This record gives sequence, structure tokens and C-alpha cells, in this order.
Amino acid sequence: MSASRPRNTAPTAAPSWPVLQAPAHWRQLDFISDLHLQASVPATFNAWQHFMQTTQADAVFILGDLFEVWVGDDVLAAPGFETRCARVLQAASHRLTIFLMRGNRDFLLGAAFAQAGGLTLLDDPSVLNFAGQRWLLSHGDALCLEDTDYLQFRSQVRSAAWQQDFLSLTLAQRQQLAHDMRMQSEARKYSGAPYADLDEPMTCSWLHMAQASTLIHGHTHKPADHQMTEGLRRIVLSDWDATATPPRAEVLRLSAAVAGQTEGNTVQRVKAARAE
Ligand code: MN
Repeated sequence: MSASRPRNTAPTAAPSWPVLQAPAHWRQLDFISDLHLQASVPATFNAWQHFMQTTQADAVFILGDLFEVWVGDDVLAAPGFETRCARVLQAASHRLTIFLMRGNRDFLLGAAFAQAGGLTLLDDPSVLNFAGQRWLLSHGDALCLEDTDYLQFRSQVRSAAWQQDFLSLTLAQRQQLAHDMRMQSEARKYSGAPYADLDEPMTCSWLHMAQASTLIHGHTHKPADHQMTEGLRRIVLSDWDATATPPRAEVLRLSAAVAGQTEGNTVQRVKAARAE
């Protein structure tokens, strides 16, 4: 590994975050997140399917909340919306490489789904070596430090014990519980409680530990390109909603002019063409 450590900022820990080395021939990577796919919003599914069928990227990175909710991979046992989504991924996986990080809505996505979709699950966070740079990838929720109630919930539901208990319930019970949790979350949204954004000092600390200068993340639905201290950068992905006016279906596209070199690299936001 040749990446140099940012000046004046010795990492406080040596995290065992996975490092993904992009193959030398990769030129274009697409990043999406927060599609919140659900059977009741076919327009967003159609836009996403069209994107997966037509992108010329070498790899697509889905950085969390592909699904509005995921109650366990056993939903794939019966044909339905989830199996249609897995088929879209599986078909695309024959042309390109797909990576998927779990979000706060679909944190229960597991190995069976990964296999059905022909994709590779990514830990949150992960480091990507591409185009002569190290990029830190995360869903982003773990950095919203002001949202203490949520972080408590997050650590609970990410524990093996909680997941084992939850997955031992029947599918119908899990769907009911997920519905109740979403209702609570909606109620909070309409109560006007402010949504936490990423904590900048902790974000910079993560970047230092990863020896990366740019974080790409989703979760907040506030697409932006933040320049932080010491030249560190935070790129926020848009959520998708094809029923909004104007429709939101945006891809962040990293292009490498020359493999392995920073010179001439571009980061653009591209509107995914709508199907129909
Ligand atoms: Mn999220």
C-alpha cells in the first residue's frame, strides 16, 4: 500500500476496515444509495431497473437502503417484489460487478440475497482503492452522532443476538414489526424533529484512519459536495424517488482518465434516464 498518511494526523486507531482494490482496467464506477425500493412505488423500481440494464460502468456500488425495508432473506422463497429486484441485479451482474452495503432500512440483507443478486456485500465502512486514490465508503448513519436514540437502536439491531431473535419470528410477525417501526419513524419525521447530519470531526477522524481524503455516503438525502478541513471532502449521494417533481434518480459517477492515476479523474452527478 502506497497511500501516505495525511499530515499532522496520526490515526488514533488502526481499524480493520476492508480495502477493496479496483482492478486496473476499471474506468467508470457508479454509486447510488437510498432508493428505498418498495412494491408500492413501481416508478422508482422502473428507473432503477433501467439504470441497471443500461449503465456502462465497470462496477455499481449501492451504499445502503436499496430497499425501504428488509425483514430477512427468506422473503426470496416466494416470488414477489424482492425476487424481481434480485433478478435485476443478477442480470446486471453478468455485465458488471455489483457491491452492496447495508443501510439502516435493509441492514438484514444477507448472504442468500447476495447470492441471488450475484453481488458482493461490503462492510460499512470500506475503503476503495481506485484511480490512484483511497475513497472511504459508508452508508453514513453511524456518523450521525447527534441522533443518539437511533445510534442506540442501531447497536441493538446490529447485534447477533437481536438478529437471531428477530429472524426466529415468522415472516408475518417480522413484517408487522417492521411496519410498526416505520410508522414510528414517520411520526418522528412529521413531528418536525430535525434530522441529524454527519458529525464533521468524527467524519474527518474516519478519513484519517482510512488514510483517505474523500468519503462517499448516502443516508441523509442531502446531496452535496462538502469541503472540510485539511482538504478532506464528503460527497453525499441523492436518494431516489421517481414520483417526485422533478424525479430524483441520480448516479454519482467516478471516471478514471488513466488507470491508477489521479490526473484527469472526474466525479459527476448523472441523471439516470427514466424508463418509459
Ligand atoms: Mn439510511
